[in-house]
Amino acid sequence: MKAWEKNIRTIKHPYVAGYQPKDYSVTKLNANENPYPPAPGVVKAMEEFETSSLRLYPALNADELIDEIAHFKQVKPSQVFVGVGSDDVIGMCFLTYFNSGKPILFPDITYSFYDVWADLYRIPYECPKLDEKFHIKKEDYYKDNGGIIFANPNAPTSIAVGLDFIRDVLEHNQDVIVIVDEAYIDFGGESAVSLLEEYDNLVVVQTFSKSRSLAGLRVGYCIASEELIQALNTVKFSYNSYTMNMLAIKLGAESVKDTEYFYQTIDKIIATRTWSKEQLEQLGFTCMDSSTNFLFATHKSMAAKEIFEKLQERKIYVRHFDKERIDNYLRITIGTDQQMEQLVNALKEILPDEKNING
Ligand code: PMP
Repeated sequence: MKAWEKNIRTIKHPYVAGYQPKDYSVTKLNANENPYPPAPGVVKAMEEFETSSLRLYPALNADELIDEIAHFKQVKPSQVFVGVGSDDVIGMCFLTYFNSGKPILFPDITYSFYDVWADLYRIPYECPKLDEKFHIKKEDYYKDNGGIIFANPNAPTSIAVGLDFIRDVLEHNQDVIVIVDEAYIDFGGESAVSLLEEYDNLVVVQTFSKSRSLAGLRVGYCIASEELIQALNTVKFSYNSYTMNMLAIKLGAESVKDTEYFYQTIDKIIATRTWSKEQLEQLGFTCMDSSTNFLFATHKSMAAKEIFEKLQERKIYVRHFDKERIDNYLRITIGTDQQMEQLVNALKEILPDEKNING
């Protein structure tokens, strides 16, 4: 072993993102991306973008984007922080808010980046278990802790909690920061943004990657009290000041302006989700009640891993997690109607005969 090797920061289990095939002809239902293009205003702004302006640094405060988000969410611009996807925002939040030395809390089954950031920043953590139906138990968050983060709706379970749950967790945790990761909130569930006026220790994180069809642009944000946003900015400016590039600022702002397209796309995905869930259930799957743009499904007779592999042979990619408690589940992103029909047809070929399933 070389002497310097012991100085290198190692992460035991780095985050593993969903597979990104280079072949665009595959049916990609594995990363909860939106199957529809970004809003027409985004396309237009992209076409009209002045390439020569790229010689300049982007606006340090990303005001154009922040102002649009603040207007849409009816908060002050000083309550908004933007980042390179919500991953960047949440990573910054861990670095900024979770410094007590006490364990932070998040569920055992949730977004698999939380434990990676905790490891990276050497933040101790505990993971209370979801109940057997994958519901989060509020009593688990009553103990002394260094901060809390949970996704609502949760991923990969797709299940949402109500504002009463969030309020209860906040009431029991007024001395620490509580982060609600709302990556999928636009597809169902109630946003905790409405609680911000009451709780100055609440941080609500959202993203442009799912409901706004802009995963490739990398835009995420959080909303919190001015004091918390200022703390985040101080840390961010001490690390990398120009995180938001010109295109992300401009196109992100255009996306927020087009509310009609935004709601239309969401409605389409929700309708396809309803249809897909019915179809999967007819094929012997059980799906959690989804408030997201994906379904979390298990089959009564065929192992999830086998289904995953057989779908992949047919160039249909869904997500399977080799993790205790959820290794017999598939996370299936809601695509277009056509993509979901293709999935259902492939499953009809793959799954054992319906008579055998019921018999
Ligand atoms: N939170 C959750 C729960 C997610 O599933 C994801 C997507 N992988 C993210 C945050 C991060 O998304 P992005 O960085 O694209 O905004």
